Amino acid sequence: MRDELKTPTNPPRIHRKAGENYSDETVQARRESISKGCSTSLENIGKNLLHAESLQGNIENFIGAAQIPIGLAGPLLVDGEKARGSFYVPLATTEGALVDSYSRGMAAIARSGGVRTRVVKSVMHITPLFLCERAAEAADLADWVMTNFEQIREVAESSTRHGKLKSLEPVLLGRNLHLQFNYDTGDAMGLNMINIATERACAFIVAERGIADFYLRVNFSADKKNSHRNFVSGYGKEVLAEAVIPRKIVSRMLHTTPEALKDFWKAAVIAGMKAGITGVNAHLANGLSALFVATGQDVAQIVNSAVGILDLDLTKEGDLYASLHLPNLVVGTVGGGTGLPTQRECLELMGCYGTGTVEKFAEITAATLLAGEISLCAALTNGDFAKIHELKHGFTKSLAESDSGHA
Ligand code: NAP
Repeated sequence: MRDELKTPTNPPRIHRKAGENYSDETVQARRESISKGCSTSLENIGKNLLHAESLQGNIENFIGAAQIPIGLAGPLLVDGEKARGSFYVPLATTEGALVDSYSRGMAAIARSGGVRTRVVKSVMHITPLFLCERAAEAADLADWVMTNFEQIREVAESSTRHGKLKSLEPVLLGRNLHLQFNYDTGDAMGLNMINIATERACAFIVAERGIADFYLRVNFSADKKNSHRNFVSGYGKEVLAEAVIPRKIVSRMLHTTPEALKDFWKAAVIAGMKAGITGVNAHLANGLSALFVATGQDVAQIVNSAVGILDLDLTKEGDLYASLHLPNLVVGTVGGGTGLPTQRECLELMGCYGTGTVEKFAEITAATLLAGEISLCAALTNGDFAKIHELKHGFTKSLAESDSGHA
């Protein structure tokens, strides 16, 4: 065997101690045994401010933390239903030029009166599959669950204070029944919440109807998958954001024209159709991933959340009209990773931690993404794109100059 192909055949066991897996001593012993057995230093991973005991429910086999730099974009001016005012937006990323690019779009938007935002729909759904003997049994079950919705709702909601079952949607497929449970999950993203609630409801249905069995999840709700069905009918928050940027601001701060942006976007939409993209946008996943990591969101939800439709057009006065439609934004300001120390601070920076803030956060997210879309499209239109990535460090200077009207 060639030397480079030799790998340790017996890596050390991960140190675990029943009932004490989250004690500082166990975590340190785990790190040391792996460090020694794998002949590598875990010193930097071990340097962090997390208290292992508080991480139960967030992580297993804890050894330390990944540290991702956070940069501030903004200020972002939002004129939304729930988000109103100027916000600094924390972005955790190692992609140079990203924060500057979002800031550039935010600066142009701020000079233009801000982004108008609105959450138009909110639903988290899960679709168990009931295994029936015959199609007729599945159809009867569909009728029964609709007639007995109130009882099913009570059972589902018995496991949660904030989760509310709003409706059921039966979908028959062969001899099986897919039953979509549509929830309002309050300020939580809600996946755990709806899993637990729905498991109870399904057990109740199976017992009441003598159904053979059910799967809690198959792929019908397409969680963490790209789904055309969800793109059309919604998953998580459906959010709209729009801004009008006067021609002179487009010229002075984005170094392009409304017409050039409109033409570029038409080409990008047609190319996106040819490529078969779901939702046509410039780079939603960039801002989403950086904001999700900073604020303790479930980062795998970027797969859903990053579908969206950007529109760049002209107003009748010849200014730039920009809008973003996000049909599948999956976010929370309670639960999951949102309460961890740095993540919570990032949410608090925007006034978005805890009860009553999730729609505000969704609106700030949409406004941030719109700023990033405008900025990237401008850079691709005016030839700045490659230069920016070449001259990452000089870009802040050029932003400051263009903001003060010198560029
Ligand atoms: P969670 O932390 O499991 O639940 C949210 C908690 O916050 C609930 O205990 C809820 O209590 C409480 N809460 C307090 N105030 C609330 C408010 N204003 N609105 C809503 N809830 C409030 O979080 P989750 O959002 O349900 O689930 C997200 C987590 O699930 C993430 O960490 C994600 O990575 C993980 N996840 C789990 C699975 C899975 O299959 N288990 C799959 C994917 C992701 P009540 O319920 O009593 O209202």
